[in-house]
Amino acid sequence: MVIDTYRHKGLRRQLAILLKTKGIKDAEVLKAIEKVPRHLFLDNTFIERAYEDIAFPIGAGQTISRPHTVAFQTELLQLKRGEKVMEIGTGCGYQTTILLEMGAKVYTIERQKELYDKTIKFLPSIGYSARFVYGDGYKGLPAYAPFDKIIITAGAPMIPNDLLVQLKVGGRMVIPIGDKVQIMTLMEKKSEKHFEKTEFGEFKFVPLLERKEWGD
Ligand code: SAH
Repeated sequence: MVIDTYRHKGLRRQLAILLKTKGIKDAEVLKAIEKVPRHLFLDNTFIERAYEDIAFPIGAGQTISRPHTVAFQTELLQLKRGEKVMEIGTGCGYQTTILLEMGAKVYTIERQKELYDKTIKFLPSIGYSARFVYGDGYKGLPAYAPFDKIIITAGAPMIPNDLLVQLKVGGRMVIPIGDKVQIMTLMEKKSEKHFEKTEFGEFKFVPLLERKEWGD
């Protein structure tokens, strides 16, 4: 079993400092990065490099995002404690725990059965609880809507309308849009019909697959 040590804590502190130099300002986001043991989410092969600002494979052809990407998306959400957040693309659950550390109530959807099965067991084993859903993120979770915030952690070809509908008025949705590279996009819901769109830099994600592309 891999445990958390003072050395890991020291490496996390350095990672938080690095992210600050890369432009992350939200102290709560940096605190969460300092708290969550990222090395526990990784395969043994990569564990030594867990606190470098890089992405790693997590199985089933998917990746855990770079810490900078996780911090950037989380900062854009402007999370407040107690808010209800929908996350699309649970993966290994690292982003989920960052949201939980910041006091969010998290509903997270994953379409890969293998990752869903793994993460629904792993997160509670390290003390984090969320509502895990095995399903299609394009559809969101109408039964639990509306959400204060929505975060999509895979690259989408367009903004799924079903997700915009499930956002509260006054809410924020952060979604990377694009094919080979994605533009980080913030959608602010100003009224039921009116959205304000702001685009940020380029990022690289695995694709948000539509059901017809699943093939497994
Ligand atoms: N936040 C994750 C990153 C995972 S990568 C982490 O911290 O590990 C993106 C994830 O989105 C993958 O696990 C992929 O299987 C999932 N995904 C892709 N298309 C999806 C869809 N339509 N619905 C739900 N999840 C999807």
